[in-house]
Amino acid sequence: MLNNVVDFFRNLPPKYCMDCGEEMEEQHECYGNKCTNCLKVKR
Ligand SMILES: [Zn+2]
Repeated sequence: MLNNVVDFFRNLPPKYCMDCGEEMEEQHECYGNKCTNCLKVKR
């Protein structure tokens, strides 16, 4: 059921930055697993 798929994604735990471990509210799949702060620092 589509509803089950929606619930599955809605129940997913929040992402955490792989660099600083800060919780990421935004979903930037294309940016990998880094928060915006670490992306700015990235050279
Ligand atoms: Zn970070």
